[in-house]
Amino acid sequence: MLGHADSCLCIDLGAIVANWRYIDSLSAPSTVTAAMVKANGYGLGAAAVAGALAAAGCGEFFVASLDEAIALRQHLDEVGHPEPHIMTLHGCHIGQEEAHAQHRITPVLNDLEQLTRWRLFSQKIAEKLPALLHFDTGMTRLGFDPDQTDWLIQNKAAYDGLAVRYIMSHLVSGEVIGAPITTQQLAAFNELRSWFAGVPASLANSAGSLLPNPYHFQMTRPGIALYGAHPADCPTDKLQPVVRWHARIMQLRRAKAGDRVGYGGTHLLTRESKIATVGVGYADGYDRQLGGKAIVQIGDKHAPVIGRVSMDSITVDVTDLADGDLVSGTADLLHAGYDVPRMAADANTISYEVLTRLGPRPARHYLKP
Ligand SMILES: *Cc1c(COP(=O)(O)O)cnc(C)c1O
Repeated sequence: MLGHADSCLCIDLGAIVANWRYIDSLSAPSTVTAAMVKANGYGLGAAAVAGALAAAGCGEFFVASLDEAIALRQHLDEVGHPEPHIMTLHGCHIGQEEAHAQHRITPVLNDLEQLTRWRLFSQKIAEKLPALLHFDTGMTRLGFDPDQTDWLIQNKAAYDGLAVRYIMSHLVSGEVIGAPITTQQLAAFNELRSWFAGVPASLANSAGSLLPNPYHFQMTRPGIALYGAHPADCPTDKLQPVVRWHARIMQLRRAKAGDRVGYGGTHLLTRESKIATVGVGYADGYDRQLGGKAIVQIGDKHAPVIGRVSMDSITVDVTDLADGDLVSGTADLLHAGYDVPRMAADANTISYEVLTRLGPRPARHYLKP
């Protein structure tokens, strides 16, 4: 699978589909389960992920920006899935009106300026254009702020002529069990819904999708859970791992006690050692903080990453492995014993960043559903 590459991500599209179906099964049959494929499908390939999910019946895809949306629309058209809705979370910025309409992209409108712009464009082309209205219920990031929300409730003519598909909001701490802000946001969102009678609603990210029913409304918007990482540490949920990552062992070398390994000579060998130099580095998205922490798998044995992570390579202490353990010629960087959440913890970050920082250099190999 490496081909001419030195590391390869093995992405199980069947597992992504299974995770989407699992999340879908947690909500009422009438609740739609969308898929978050922003940031190139959390680093794993938006085209491949959305293609597999569209084939499985997913009809709602969210990306962040318009260029992500257009690329996804073109891909889904090419593979014969013209029907799904594609939404831009960042909404319609100045000069993006025509491209949204032309590529059948629905903006998530985040403030009155975006709303007015989209409505005026809709009037100009005399078409009832679709939109989602995003209300801020505690995130203080994107969405109508409390003042604009009050104004909009009093001035519903402001969105006359638009087809409002959903109202939505976003959870601040859905993954923190029992966080008071979560129930506060639920209450605020329910109040908001009373002003938009008959308009479908959406509140839940992955964490919200895994919460009980009152958080699901008419559409959930999972991201990270589709990619096999739980937003909280809750091993009871049946999410399947999606990605494995392996890299070429480029060189095996012997070293003496007292030798130092890698940049800065930070790792001092205290015994005669066997070192494997593996073809992956921080330029591939392998976090520099994993040096001295991560555990790779070679054959069925585990071995520690020692010294600093370089741009293109890492060094692994394989002294305790027999030559027969090394015949595969590759080291597994993400494996059953060292998954994305574990790697994230060792890199002092979150699973989201481990995935979205995967660089373009690792080859991508897709297991078809
Ligand atoms: C990214 C995002 C999601 C998905 O979040 P996950 O935690 O990955 O499930 C849902 N809604 C909005 C508005 C987002 O920006």
